[in-house]
Amino acid sequence: MIVKRVGIFCLLLLAVSVAFGQSKMVTALDVPNIEQTINIEGFTAALDSFPRSAQKGYLEQFLVPGNDGYIISRFGPRSGRMHYGTDIKMYKGDTVVATQSGVIARANWGHGFGRLVVIQHRNNIETYYAHLTKFLKEKGDTVEKGEPIGLAGSTGRARGVHLHFEMRENGKPFDPELVFDFKEEKIRDDAFNTESLMALHKKLKPKGYSTNVAVPEYYKVRSGDSLWVISRKFKTSITELCRLNNIAENAVLQIGQPLRMY
Ligand SMILES: [Zn+2]
Repeated sequence: MIVKRVGIFCLLLLAVSVAFGQSKMVTALDVPNIEQTINIEGFTAALDSFPRSAQKGYLEQFLVPGNDGYIISRFGPRSGRMHYGTDIKMYKGDTVVATQSGVIARANWGHGFGRLVVIQHRNNIETYYAHLTKFLKEKGDTVEKGEPIGLAGSTGRARGVHLHFEMRENGKPFDPELVFDFKEEKIRDDAFNTESLMALHKKLKPKGYSTNVAVPEYYKVRSGDSLWVISRKFKTSITELCRLNNIAENAVLQIGQPLRMY
């Protein structure tokens, strides 16, 4: 029965690859997480107005966020909850600029974020700029790299004026310090010639790079967990978790069971 199912699945996969194989190489990183991707009208068309960047060199083309501000809080667990970004010291009214060209996917109030701007970039990457005091762009606007998008502030859950900056890929947050050397105000050498944040994370992990990454390769199920709880915790979807682990959406999880996260 299982063999038969696998057989049918392979046939289906073959048919799909024959249908699409000619036009586009499909890799895991090309598939956006539908639930997490912010879809706005005319969004694709707007992004297409930008020249296509070489996939490999995309990360090195970002601007270091925060105009030489120093880090006041890093990415990682913080007082019992996950801090998905880097906090950069700024002064009220400082201009916050787009770290890369893209389309404004959000410019509104976000719970905890205060006034939040989210820019959708190429390669399924999004950048978040939170606690702003003023918006300079609206949802749907296209922005060039370095263009002002807002003014720094302390709206939302913020202690003092700073910029909370996040970098997400396929909806998953990654440590911005994987890409940026904030102290030296430059792109990290490791981020050169790298096509994605996930690839960069995988490259840095064996080197013992100590910065916490929000998405462990395997997560051990704890008491009180459910697929829903885990999907919320790691900003992924139940569908994606089921696909990766080959389990059903109503599967009963065992404590200590390892779940593949990517
Ligand atoms: Zn923060």
